[in-house]
Amino acid sequence: MIRQLNKSCTCKEYSDLELSRDVISKRIKESKKIKKHLEIKSKSDKGHHLYQCEFCNQLWQLSSAWNWGGKDYLFKIPKINIEKWNENPFVSPADMTIFTASMNLYFERHKLIESENICRRENCERKAILKDVLCKKHFIENLQKIGNLPKYPEGKIFEPYTFE
Ligand SMILES: [Zn+2]
Ligand SMILES: [Zn+2]
Repeated sequence: MIRQLNKSCTCKEYSDLELSRDVISKRIKESKKIKKHLEIKSKSDKGHHLYQCEFCNQLWQLSSAWNWGGKDYLFKIPKINIEKWNENPFVSPADMTIFTASMNLYFERHKLIESENICRRENCERKAILKDVLCKKHFIENLQKIGNLPKYPEGKIFEPYTFE
């Protein structure tokens, strides 16, 4: 058994991905090596793969980085049972990187400042932003609906990531 000669894995050498283009590019290159210790556990309808380390049981997800020419990359994910994962795989950090970059670009160009008025949306008690009748959340939602801002990426959000 060759496997017994090699009793450790390299999972600990890889950290959670920072949402930067360079970090994603680097991980795309590393993924072939990372995959050596991993065993495939499931595939989702949308082409995400669930992997587990044979040595330390760490779970990994393989997704395509669409803005990097659709190349595959691996990232660590929290413990989850396979059926739950099949229903809704984790959000891809590459998608989040692109989403966050476009949102930041928008906010650099448009400062959304609170006014003294209340948002016009029903049941919303947040302050409307200046020069508009909606609060920041609902204003952004509107822009996402008409396609002027990107939609939130699909998938289950997980530590250490947040949308805000
Ligand atoms: Zn491992
Ligand atoms: Zn509102």
